[in-house]
Amino acid sequence: MGKIAMTTPLVEMDGDEMTRILWKIIKEELLEPFVDLKTEYYDLGLTYRNETNDAVTVDAANAVKKYKVGVKCATITPNAARMEEYHLKEMYKSPNGTIRSMLDGTVFRAPIVVKGIEPCVKNWKKPITLARHAYGDVYKNTEMRIPGPGKAELVFTAQDGTETRQMIHEFKGAGVLQGMHNLDESIESFARSCFSYALDTQQDLWFATKDTISKQYDHTFKDIFQEIYDTEYKEAFEKTGLTYFYTLIDDAVARVMKAEGGFIWACKNYDGDVMSDMVSSAFGSLAMMTSVLVSPKGYFEYEAAHGTVQRHYYRHLKGEETSTNSVATIFAWSGALRKRGELDDNTKLQHFADKLEAATVNVIESGRMTKDLALITSIPAPTVLNSRDFICEIRKELEAAL
Ligand code: NAP
Ligand code: MG
Repeated sequence: MGKIAMTTPLVEMDGDEMTRILWKIIKEELLEPFVDLKTEYYDLGLTYRNETNDAVTVDAANAVKKYKVGVKCATITPNAARMEEYHLKEMYKSPNGTIRSMLDGTVFRAPIVVKGIEPCVKNWKKPITLARHAYGDVYKNTEMRIPGPGKAELVFTAQDGTETRQMIHEFKGAGVLQGMHNLDESIESFARSCFSYALDTQQDLWFATKDTISKQYDHTFKDIFQEIYDTEYKEAFEKTGLTYFYTLIDDAVARVMKAEGGFIWACKNYDGDVMSDMVSSAFGSLAMMTSVLVSPKGYFEYEAAHGTVQRHYYRHLKGEETSTNSVATIFAWSGALRKRGELDDNTKLQHFADKLEAATVNVIESGRMTKDLALITSIPAPTVLNSRDFICEIRKELEAAL
C-alpha cells in the first residue's frame, strides 16, 4: 500500500521530556509508515529555545500563520529549578503564552470519550467542550498590597490628558488592591472563534459571565457576544438548528452539572482555567483531552492539554519502564492532519486521521491501556501496557483497519 501524500506542510513543534519521547515513537509507529509526512520542523525543546534565545518559538508561531495548521508537543515553562537544570540564559516565557498572543485565539478543550472510562458525573453522556478566552483579566493584572489607611482610585488618562477618576475604596487599615483589563478587539475575536467553532462542530454554544455584579467589565463581554451573534451568526445558527445561550456563570455551573453534554461552554480566562480542569478530571483524565487553539484568522494549533510528564521522564532516564498515556498527543496529530486534509481537499488524509483515532479508541475499549486509565476503568482486568507497547498495539489496530 502506498503512503498517503501531503501537499502542504504541517508546522511541527517538538517539545520536552516524556512527551518528546512519545512524540518520536508516535511518528515512527503511527505516522511515517502510512503518511508521506510533510512537516516544517521547529524544536521547541528547552535546550534549543535557550540556544536561540527563544527566537525559535516566535519562528514557529510565524510558520503557523504561514501554513495555517500546527501541531505542538508539550513544553517546559521554565521556573527557578529549570534555570539550573538547563543552564538557562533567561527565564523564558511559556511557549504557549507566546504562541497564543501571536495567533490571538481561543483554546478549545474536549474530552476524548471512550467506553470503559465513564465520567464521574453520571448524566454526562456527550463531551463538554470548554472554550477559554486566552487574553487578559487576572492573567495580566497589576496588584498592590495596601499597608494602611489611604485612598485607592481608578484613573484613566486619555491621550489628550483628560483624566477620569473613580473611587475604589477608602482604606481604614491594611488590605489588597488589583487592577485588570481586557480589549474589545480580543473579546470580539474570542466571540467569533466560539461561534465559528460551534458551527464547525455542530454544537450549541453556552456563554456565561457575572454581568449582574460586574456591570461594566463582564457586561461588555455579554454585549459583544450578543452583538456579534445577532449581526454575524444568528442566521447560520437558526438555519442549522443550533442555539446560542447566555446565562450567569453560577447558573451555568448548576446547569452544566445537570446537563447531558454535547455543547461548547465558553468561559472568560479565569473561569476557563478552573472549569477546564474540573470538566477534564470529571471525564477521567487530562491525558484524555484534546486541545486546539483556533484563531479568528483561521490558524489552528493542536496540542495535548497536559504537561511534559516530568516524573515519568526521570524514571525513563533511570532506565525504568514507564506507562505514559499518549492519547492526547496522538489526537493532537490526528486533529492537525485532519485539518490539513480539510484545507487541502485531501480526503485520504482526513480518513487517515479518523482511522488513527478509531484505532486508539478501539485499543482502550478492548481493555489494553496505560496505567493511568487502568486505575479508573470499569473494564474488568485490563491489560496494562508500557508507553511503547500501547502505541504498538494502536499500530496493529491501524494496520488492520487500513
Ligand atoms: P504534567 O506533565 O501534566 O503531569 C502531572 C502528573 O499528571 C504526572 O506526574 C502524572 O501523574 C499525570 N499525567 C499527566 N499527563 C499524563 C499522561 N500523559 N500519562 C500519564 N499520566 C499523566 O504536569 P507537571 O508535572 O506539573 O508539569 C511538567 C512540565 O510540563 C512543567 O515544566 C510545565 O511547565 C509543563 N507544562 C506544559 C504544558 C504544555 O506545554 N501544554 C502544560 C502544563 C504543564 P503520576 O506521576 O501520578 O503518574
Ligand atoms: Mg490551570
